[in-house]
Amino acid sequence: MPETHIEVCSPATGEPIGSVAIANAEDVAAAAARARAAQVEWGARTLEERCAVLRQVKNVIIERTDDICDLLSKEQGKPKVEAMVHEVINLVDLIHYFTSQADRILSPEPIALHLLKHRASYLHWKPRGLIGIIGPWNFPFNICNGPAVTALIGGNAVIVKPSEFTPMVQDLAREIFIAGGVPEDLFQVVHGYGETGSAVIDNVDMIEFTGSVVTGKKVAARCGERLIPCVTELGGKAPALVLADANIDRTAGALTWGGFANCGQVCASVERVLVHKSVLPALLDKLVPKVAALKPGNTQEDDTVQIGPLNNRRQRDIVQSRVEDAVAKGARVLVGGNIIEGPGNFFEPTLLADVTADMDIMSQETFGPVLPIMVMDDEDSMIAEANRSHLGLLAYVFSANTGRARQIAERIEAGTVMVNDVLSTHGMPETPWGGVKESGVGHTHGDDSLRHMCQQRHVNYDRLPPMRREPYWYPYGPNLYGLFKRVMGVLLGSGIANKLRWLTGR
Ligand code: NAD
Repeated sequence: MPETHIEVCSPATGEPIGSVAIANAEDVAAAAARARAAQVEWGARTLEERCAVLRQVKNVIIERTDDICDLLSKEQGKPKVEAMVHEVINLVDLIHYFTSQADRILSPEPIALHLLKHRASYLHWKPRGLIGIIGPWNFPFNICNGPAVTALIGGNAVIVKPSEFTPMVQDLAREIFIAGGVPEDLFQVVHGYGETGSAVIDNVDMIEFTGSVVTGKKVAARCGERLIPCVTELGGKAPALVLADANIDRTAGALTWGGFANCGQVCASVERVLVHKSVLPALLDKLVPKVAALKPGNTQEDDTVQIGPLNNRRQRDIVQSRVEDAVAKGARVLVGGNIIEGPGNFFEPTLLADVTADMDIMSQETFGPVLPIMVMDDEDSMIAEANRSHLGLLAYVFSANTGRARQIAERIEAGTVMVNDVLSTHGMPETPWGGVKESGVGHTHGDDSLRHMCQQRHVNYDRLPPMRREPYWYPYGPNLYGLFKRVMGVLLGSGIANKLRWLTGR
């Protein structure tokens, strides 16, 4: 018998907390058909009418904040304050930004033609139709619903396939969008594993995927077969370069938060600290007590807990194997290093020193509460080590000299580099979020992400009363070839002497 339901278990206790029905291929096709039918009316509404609905959704989210944060703590495992800051405020602000800017972003854009001045062009944006969103379990509320907002503003329907580890919060999200006025059929949610995700790809006009590199490649291949666009937001291995002149107090605070927030399960987490040898002792003096003071526990029971469980056992096993490999190859455990025994998926906040480039922890994504420190001789070798990764999502540079730090930032292969801060550009919806190398293709956030939810269409028309015929139309007279050759030389060639020669034909 095929599995019909997913039983969701608490990451903190292992106890069942709910279940969702799995959608098979027929269920997904039926949901997609309902969404497409609803999109016809939604796409015909004005942009302002659609934005007004999304503003109402924003208000319902604000009203239901406690329900959302409580469920995120229960199902995903994170502290409620992180659920509030990283997921709820982040999404509310994204809705605020895009609903107030949509008119500017999606208004027709003229293109001044540089040569054919008797004609003119402009771009305008039309809904694609149905957008499929496939999400991960680390920020299930924010990552599934940010793209849903831009898709809906763009006039599309959405079908969301959340992670099998955190499905329940997406059912709550759908309830909230509908309570805000989004038509019920327009916003579909389907649950399941990879097969359900594949079925989503088979039924939509574009995919917005966030998850691992391995799955991202499969998703992109399937989108390629269907010739539909696909944004892939994949893994990260963010390096933090601590230069000799860094403010060590601020750097230690930033690295601790950047490495351990959401129990390290952030694609932008600080995963590699590359520290100049001259400041290593001072940095460790600050970091050791900070990491040792982090309080792990069940976020449902205690609001002062800073480190929840890992979301699932698979992830805890990955974290354990990275630490074991590092220790076997000579890393020194300064804090933590072990599983916390019990029914949940807890791992001690861990600080590793004497880390070297051959350890898995410096090349493979860890996605857990571990901060590895590698000592470096100079800035050039820091940059080379930062760029050695196959991933390139975020990177960080710490220095008192912002100008120098920006020069280094521009040499790092990453979609975003922050100077003297960590993680927070995800909360700036006007800035693009997306990686280079195997961290993915395309962007969420930034004005272009809203445009990308639409088909870009181009209209070209006559500015001046039209001529009887264009010079390149039929018939082709005997001198036309020579005439165009001269015109090309004069208009597009370089150098006055050359232009004169082409004009006179000598
Ligand atoms: P995952 O790749 O295992 O799963 C992601 C989603 O894809 C899930 O919903 C899953 O059911 C679905 N899926 C699995 N196989 C599929 C298939 N063949 N076709 C379609 N869908 C399929 O990733 P995960 O473990 O849920 O998430 C963790 C990863 O996500 C990490 O690598 C992390 O870095 C990355 N991530 C990236 C960003 C970013 O913005 N770049 C943000 C958050 C997480």
